[in-house]
Amino acid sequence: MQVLERLTREAVQLAEGEVARQMQICNACRYCEGFCAVFPAMTRRLEFSASDVHYLANLCHNCGACLHACQYAPPHEFAVNIPQAMARVRRHTYERFAWPDGLGVLYWRNGLLVSMALALGIALFLMLAIWLHDGYQPGVAGQSFYNVFPHGLMVSMFLPVFAWAVVALGLGALNFLREVKPATSAAPASQSRSDRSSPPTSMRNTR
Ligand code: SF4
Ligand code: SF4
Repeated sequence: MQVLERLTREAVQLAEGEVARQMQICNACRYCEGFCAVFPAMTRRLEFSASDVHYLANLCHNCGACLHACQYAPPHEFAVNIPQAMARVRRHTYERFAWPDGLGVLYWRNGLLVSMALALGIALFLMLAIWLHDGYQPGVAGQSFYNVFPHGLMVSMFLPVFAWAVVALGLGALNFLREVKPATSAAPASQSRSDRSSPPTSMRNTR
């Protein structure tokens, strides 16, 4: 178990280090500056701590625009693939900041879990409908869905679920906000856009 935890920790550190590496290339290039909120936030940092990487990864909404525009994407040796690198870190942040703590690991199997919960939920609802109406009665719905499941019953079942979701998301977001800090290493304001429009000489390899 300890070996697994160590391997997981190392994989996360590698993913965070990879985002930091790619962000440093982007910070020299800045071609994608107007694409999304990630790039303006990135320019306010010269180095990327783990909390910076977590913050930037959650600003990315995985649209893929920067990958398609990037002249340093694979097969270039810089291998810049921002959406992929961000997605790896983002999944880790979902797990790390989730509330309650132990449930974060469920994100690793979210597709399977959601499918199973959906199938189970539908089965339970069908059984509840049969139980409420003493067996299968085709005409019971009439003109209203609430003839099958009364409105009060629906509210009493889903209000606690809704409240739980709001509390869990709120506390997860609070955990996240406690870790991220404002940028402290902004790029010099005097640095003009034209100065920043191309990477340093050491990065100007062409395919
Ligand atoms: S073109 Fe590539 S290296 Fe440049 S900012 Fe966009 S993603 Fe980063
Ligand atoms: S993939 Fe992410 S970082 Fe790239 S442009 Fe889209 S939102 Fe921005």
